[in-house]
Amino acid sequence: MFNYFQDLADRQLSGATLTRAEALAILESTDGQLLDVVSAAARLRRAHFSNTVKVNYLVNLKSGLCPEDCTYCSQRLGSAAQILKYTWLKPEEAVAQAGTGIRAGASRVCMVASGKGPSDRDVDRVAGMVRELKGEHPDVEVCACLGILKGGQAARLKDSGVDAYNHNLNTSESMYAEICSTHEFSDRVQTVEHAKDAGLSPCSGLIVGMGESNNDLIDAVFALRGLGSESIPVNFLMPFEGTPLEGTWLLTPAQCLRILAMVRFACPDTELRMAGGREMHLRTLQPLALHVANSLFLGDYLTSEGQEGQADLDMIADNGFVVLGREQPGQDPDDGATSPGAPVAIRRRGAGTRVAPNA
Ligand code: SF4
Repeated sequence: MFNYFQDLADRQLSGATLTRAEALAILESTDGQLLDVVSAAARLRRAHFSNTVKVNYLVNLKSGLCPEDCTYCSQRLGSAAQILKYTWLKPEEAVAQAGTGIRAGASRVCMVASGKGPSDRDVDRVAGMVRELKGEHPDVEVCACLGILKGGQAARLKDSGVDAYNHNLNTSESMYAEICSTHEFSDRVQTVEHAKDAGLSPCSGLIVGMGESNNDLIDAVFALRGLGSESIPVNFLMPFEGTPLEGTWLLTPAQCLRILAMVRFACPDTELRMAGGREMHLRTLQPLALHVANSLFLGDYLTSEGQEGQADLDMIADNGFVVLGREQPGQDPDDGATSPGAPVAIRRRGAGTRVAPNA
């Protein structure tokens, strides 16, 4: 029987390029078609990334007190969000924090600092941290995320051992002025280009759930495809109290899956990361999203807490995936590891007791 989404996957596997109409069909698919969309996207994911999940770990080197006014950000100018605020971590603390994530399975550490962009002194500071980190963990990939780069800074980061640079486009060009007035979409594109020119792997993605239309989403994803982003984090808006987007809840778990699937179809062989906000927006559908995305952040985000790191690792194993870099030689992809669950909890409430039932 003809299945539109499986047919679309066949065409992507043959090298076709996703069109706007096809992207819209994915975003506008019905709840009844959701598993078809996911299973078709999962074929692309498996074709390019097998059963692996890339685990990334965030280290917030400098938190809050940013002079920029990005509406979605808890670190923005005038933010009343009760987040941790601190200036640059000492190198030994940054390296120790990164080591925790690496020991838990992260193959990439993302070193992030708030602000419009780094000074040359900031670049030197981060370069020193990266040299130290790579000295202790030579195989780890390092992605820097320091804001808008000026000429020559990307090359200095590259020389210090940085592998990738993250700078998200976040949304469509036409919507950009609604989410920020202190810099422009073109500044972001230019920084991604600087990173690429210096030989850094470009990591650039989205924040969804800010009131964008499906056409905005498609514009943004096609812009990322055009830029050649090699890693696409999809963040789901976390509406921090004390920011302009406080109280903005526009996503459903099913729509989050459709968005991830659209990105997968548009960029089948690109690392796709279910990023910040996955817990609160995908909710019980997180494991399904893992069949579309091949990457996640383990543990906490920059200014908010994620689910327990062990819960992330359990989700990966329970769904038959393995952490990238920790595959066992000769391991059967279908031979999922089993680990003991929580002990059985004896019922002591509801019928036969004087305690309120669980309903
Ligand atoms: S530039 Fe970065 S840290 Fe500053 S407000 Fe925007 S997103 Fe937040």
